[in-house]
Amino acid sequence: MKAMVHQGPGSFVWQEHPTPQIRKPTDAIVKIEATTICGTDLHILKGDVPTVEPGRVLGHEGVGAVTEVGAAVTEIAVGDRVIVSCISACGKCSYCADGMFSHCLADEGASGLGWLLGHLIDGTQAEYVRVPFAETSLHRVPQGVAAEDAVMISDILPTGHEIGIRYGAVKPGDVVAVIGAGPVGLAAMMTASLYGPSRVIAVDIDANRVEQAERFGVSDGVISSDPEWKEQILALTDGLGVDVAIEAVGVPSTWDMCLEIVRPGGHVANVGVHGKPVSFPLESAWIQNLTITTGLVNTNTSRMLIKLLAQGRLDAGAFISHRFSLDDIESAYTTFSSAAETKALKVILAARR
Ligand code: ZN
Ligand code: ZN
Repeated sequence: MKAMVHQGPGSFVWQEHPTPQIRKPTDAIVKIEATTICGTDLHILKGDVPTVEPGRVLGHEGVGAVTEVGAAVTEIAVGDRVIVSCISACGKCSYCADGMFSHCLADEGASGLGWLLGHLIDGTQAEYVRVPFAETSLHRVPQGVAAEDAVMISDILPTGHEIGIRYGAVKPGDVVAVIGAGPVGLAAMMTASLYGPSRVIAVDIDANRVEQAERFGVSDGVISSDPEWKEQILALTDGLGVDVAIEAVGVPSTWDMCLEIVRPGGHVANVGVHGKPVSFPLESAWIQNLTITTGLVNTNTSRMLIKLLAQGRLDAGAFISHRFSLDDIESAYTTFSSAAETKALKVILAARR
């Protein structure tokens, strides 16, 4: 088969790669129908994620048809159309028992992380993928839901919802600011509406992204390169600051911004993938009664999100900016990695029929 293979920092090639086989009784093999590229994949290509070894097939999002299952798999059958979750969860270890699949202990790389695909084992940017713990790591695609829409359930919708909105404890009437209007930030904005906030403020350095955010249930937009950005946000609250600030970029300046705009008693939910240390001014924050959360997605709300998708309550198609054929994935990476010029959000890679 063909797959997107990481060759080491800065290099990736769509090339021949061994077709995956069932290795454990709990595995399934999925023929990829649609996949996409995540910001995390760009971090891997830059060399920010050294646990990804050269030779690894990238990708942790995708939808496809099951072509083979291991002997222990009874709930998923050959022919099922499934969403591949970015987290592979055994369903049995102590973390899985608590619903914290992100730290599943049964992984194949002994890292104590549920993020295996496109990280510690070969991923979804390929014609076929082997999915471990198939019964607890695959979800059936409901009737009537397009494959490309369902791909948004693999990672971005649960990540924005769980680590942004749920960890941020958004409640009715809250003013929520999301710093960073990339796909995951937009997923947080879209799922915020499930909890009845009074305002959802999109903050981004890129005016185009702030404008795009209007399609994701946002009430107000603020361009962070404006010297008055902070005053603009405070003016949208009662002057005290936002109830929930969600960091969805992963650089020190946007973390600092969250701490500047959150009100006493508020929540700062970090979603961004950070590659550098940030400062935390505990000398001023200690008296602010803040709640600060971090996390890797558990995908324990994916089933709920799938129901909303099936009922047309979540417009997953809004995330899709570009479509390519799977074997044109190298062009898709070029488009996705220059999002400021191409206005790329999620790029869909569809297998040729
Ligand atoms: Zn991702
Ligand atoms: Zn587990």
